[in-house]
Order: sequence, then structure tokens, then C-alpha cells
Amino acid sequence: MEFAKSIPLFRVFGIQVNLDYSWFIVFFLITYTLAEYFYPYYYPNHSFLTYLFFGAISAILLFVSVLLHELAHSLVAKHYGIPVKNINLFIFGGVAMIEEEAPSPKVEFLIAIAGPICSFILGTIFFLLAYFYPQDDLLNGLINYLMYVNFAIALFNLVPAFPLDGGRILRSIIWAKKDIITATKVSAFTGKAFAYFLMLLGALSVLQGSLINAVWYFFLGWFLKNAAEVSYEQTKLSVILSQYKVERFMRTIKPLLYNDTIYTLMTYYYPFYRSNIFPVIGNDGNIYVVSVKDAMKIPQHLWEKTSVMEIAKPLKVYVSPYDSLFKALKLMNKYQLDELPVIYNNAVLGIIRRVDIENLLEKYLTEEK
Ligand SMILES: [Zn+2]
Repeated sequence: MEFAKSIPLFRVFGIQVNLDYSWFIVFFLITYTLAEYFYPYYYPNHSFLTYLFFGAISAILLFVSVLLHELAHSLVAKHYGIPVKNINLFIFGGVAMIEEEAPSPKVEFLIAIAGPICSFILGTIFFLLAYFYPQDDLLNGLINYLMYVNFAIALFNLVPAFPLDGGRILRSIIWAKKDIITATKVSAFTGKAFAYFLMLLGALSVLQGSLINAVWYFFLGWFLKNAAEVSYEQTKLSVILSQYKVERFMRTIKPLLYNDTIYTLMTYYYPFYRSNIFPVIGNDGNIYVVSVKDAMKIPQHLWEKTSVMEIAKPLKVYVSPYDSLFKALKLMNKYQLDELPVIYNNAVLGIIRRVDIENLLEKYLTEEK
């Protein structure tokens, strides 16, 4: 999932926290609902401005609660060496962008359960605060509200519907007994079932005449259904491709030398290796990369006189022969490339191509059917 429309907030424990614009919709909705209904109903005789103020504070602290929940997932992931690039807060809560699949069912279980545990602890803290501060005022209202939302966040996330935390817990349990693909298949199925259940609640809300609730249920159901499908596809991809090393699928290649010409590249290398990029050894001993696309821009009558170094760029993205195909594919997607040089100890070994990875996947997927 890409969250392009977001505001970078701050970094915490090396994790970038971003606020999606869609979050503002929830912020205004919650602030308004609390200021118009919740606070005046339980704590009457204050000005609307005071209610608005407490509504806004409540909405912001709800956001902090969600952030702490995601941070709990992230810190456990980081503890096990799984990189977490950022936490995105958006309309339905938060998502910690945990970069890789957990290496074992145990780690998956611990990462998944950390969030609800954090929310339960927060709920308990607010429960105790309410207990020791039983005054019948707005502050007490705020404390009660935060107790309620943190318990609600914990319970909702524990529903065993992938990709909710409960679904991940379910997956880790099945994974421990069978394999990760079966585990993901089953938990994605319960995830979709739950999503349809929410949509059904949406339909019932329409019949009851509460349109706001209906829209809310439909959106949430639709979001969870997509998330369940995408997560399943991604897991399948990562599980299949993580089994293979680049070494087995790369094409060995002889690198160009700095004094080779574009003519050599276009008449010998390109037709023979059928790659769009080629590594070049510069006269400084460093590795550079030339692309066929750049070579095409040079008029053909100059090819024999132009050195490849004139269009070469320093090597930035590459893989080692011992990296997994999954890592190679992720890098290709990230940098929008179809080939990557395979480099080991500053020596060019070959090229890994997207088509070869896709052929392997296709073979797998047709066997499955
Ligand atoms: Zn969670």
C-alpha cells in the first residue's frame, strides 16, 4: 500500500511517523461528535467552546493511543531485526510498515500481540486514573473516554480476521502447526468473512436509517477485504521467492571495460545478453552501469568513437548472489528497474532479470491450479 498523501510528523526510535490527510476526517468527526453529544450529555452546563476543546483533546489523545499501539508492534519487530520504515496514521487507525515477514511463527505471534497488549495496558491505566479521580467533571469524562477507546482498540484488533492483529495471531498458530501459505490462506479467508460481515452490518444500518454508520461499516469492510487479499498475494510472493538465491537465476555476464565503445555495447553485448543495463569497470576500478536506452540517444555514426564511460553512471542498486529473489524483486520494484547487476566483493558476476523471476512465479502458480 502506498500512502503518498501524508504529512511527515516526527521520528521516534528511528521510525518515521506520518499523518495521512484522511486522518483529519476522523479528527473532525470525533471532535464534533464528542462536543455535540458525549460531553454535553454526561457533563452539562459548559459552553460549546469548552466541549469543542475537550473533543479535540480527546481526538488527539486517541491518535496518541493508536500511535503507541503501532509503536508496540514496531519495537517488537525491530527487536527481532525486522526493519520498520514508518508508521502511517490514517482514517481507520494506524499501520506500521514492517518491511519483512516474520522469520518464525513465534516472532509473528509476539509482534502481533504487542499492539493489543499495549492498548490493554493503556486502558487499564485510564481505568485506574478514573478510579482515583472520581470527580464528575470534564477531565473525568476525558479519562473515561480514553479508557473506553483503548479497550475498544485492543478488542477490535483481536478479532481473528487477517490482517488485523487477531488474524496475525491466528496465522502464527496455524503456521506453527502447518506452513505459512496455508496459514495465510486460512486467516485471509476469515479476514474476508469478517469484512463481509461488516458490510452486512452496513446494509442493516441502511435499513435502520443511520446512513453515517452504514458508510462507516461499508468503508471499513471494503478496506479490510482489500487488505486481506493484498496481504495474501504478497505473502505468497515473498514465501516463494525467499526460497531461492539470486545465484541460481542470474545470467553470468562479462563486464564492459572503460575503453569499450558504445559500438561494442550495441553490436555484441546487447544482442547477446538481451539485457537493458550493463556493468562497466571504470579506470578507477569502480563499477559503473550503462543503459541501452542512454546508448540509443547517441547518433549511430558516433558509436565507434564514443566510450561507454561517457554515458555510464555510478553503480547504486545491485544484489549479491546470496540475496533472495524476493529481495531482488523488491529492489526492482522500488527503483523501477527490470534488471539488476549481481556484484560480489566488488566483482561483477552477472545480471538478474525481472522476466526470469516472473517466469519462476508463473511456473509455481500454474502448478498450484
Ligand atoms: Zn495492531
